[in-house]
Amino acid sequence: MNLVFLGPPGAGKGTQAKEVAKEQGLAHISTGDILREAVKNQTETGLKAKQYMDAGDLVPDAVVVAIIGERIQQADCQDGYVLDGFPRTYEQAEALADTLGQHGMTLDRVVYFDVDAAVLVERLTGRRTCRDCAANYHVKFMPPKADGVCDKCSGELYQREDDNEQTVRNRIDTYEKLTADLIDYYRQRDLLSQIDAAKDVAAVQADLKAILD
Ligand code: ADP
Ligand code: AMP
Repeated sequence: MNLVFLGPPGAGKGTQAKEVAKEQGLAHISTGDILREAVKNQTETGLKAKQYMDAGDLVPDAVVVAIIGERIQQADCQDGYVLDGFPRTYEQAEALADTLGQHGMTLDRVVYFDVDAAVLVERLTGRRTCRDCAANYHVKFMPPKADGVCDKCSGELYQREDDNEQTVRNRIDTYEKLTADLIDYYRQRDLLSQIDAAKDVAAVQADLKAILD
């Protein structure tokens, strides 16, 4: 099963993708996580991507398309994967279709996480992320058991640099300008399922399960 999770930053895609991947034995592919790792390791890709990420702009299509092209061929993707945060432009969606075609793969479903922009700022500015395993928490909605410590791996929780209010607003604008059109793109291709991502984490998880079953 190959899935795309589509929706604005802060909609809860990563939170749900991790659970779905674990339950269904799929690889979780977050282009944001891959890029942050590249920035941390100061790879060529990381050096190219950093300025865009810091500003809350999209990294050039060619960079992320190359990342995905390599990633979906790895062994853990054999039984399927959840693409989280990719594609984000029309060009990325078309490149994904080409790449999948070349490897004899298809997309089974695109899940659109529908949530009002008003809640996104609170979700993103309150997000805390584990430095070691990239698990996400929220100071109010999903607090860790011990302050600043990851429940899963005891890593240190930090606030992403791009989770400040100004950058968050730019990321939401960027989503509306460049990514939101993909809702219709996938609806026209009969691949879209929509969920109400304003509900709490458990309710969203249950709705998602109903769609995927
Ligand atoms: P995305 O991957 O779509 O950018 P995340 O999954 O990282 O979003 O979620 C953004 C923030 O909102 C995180 O701090 C997460 O803990 C919190 N969150 C996720 N889903 C919900 C929800 N349904 N209700 C409230 N907060 C949520
Ligand atoms: P995310 O972790 O999904 O919130 O992504 C964080 C940042 O990584 C974004 O603001 C972009 O700068 C970059 N990024 C992640 N995925 C993509 C993508 N598919 N296309 C372009 N840039 C991306």
